[in-house]
Amino acid sequence: MKKSPAQLSDIFTCTRCGYCCQGETTVSLDQEDQARMMAELGLSREEMEEQYWRVTEGVVQMRIVDHHCIFYTAESGCAVHEGRPWRCGQWPLHPSILADEDNFRTIRESCPGINQELSWEQFCGVFRLLLEQDKRLLC
Ligand code: SF4
Ligand code: SF4
Repeated sequence: MKKSPAQLSDIFTCTRCGYCCQGETTVSLDQEDQARMMAELGLSREEMEEQYWRVTEGVVQMRIVDHHCIFYTAESGCAVHEGRPWRCGQWPLHPSILADEDNFRTIRESCPGINQELSWEQFCGVFRLLLEQDKRLLC
């Protein structure tokens, strides 16, 4: 019998709580992230730097407003969803989960979207299958 593919929803369903968009800093944007976000918003690099980015010694991050990423809104979540940095799309399925159960616990505590019923072993079993299906898994 053919094995059914692993489903992301087996281990994670985003509750849109917005917790991962809060804080005093954001993920950094690599060159591909920068190009994707500029294309999504139809803005030049200069315009992005004027309005949305914070550039520190060549490292590009998103600006913080009221203790959250400038693109986060309580009403509708991420305002640049299709153009978000790949690390935002990866969260909370960080590969470090596979290496250490403590990493799993720490991430699970900060993300209510993780299926809280699963043990680390169960979670990793599905997570590995998902990565086999798609190496650059986005949530
Ligand atoms: S870009 Fe979107 S997903 Fe990433 S931190 Fe900002 S609001 Fe959150
Ligand atoms: S990824 Fe997790 S922390 Fe971020 S909005 Fe979804 S459920 Fe909340």
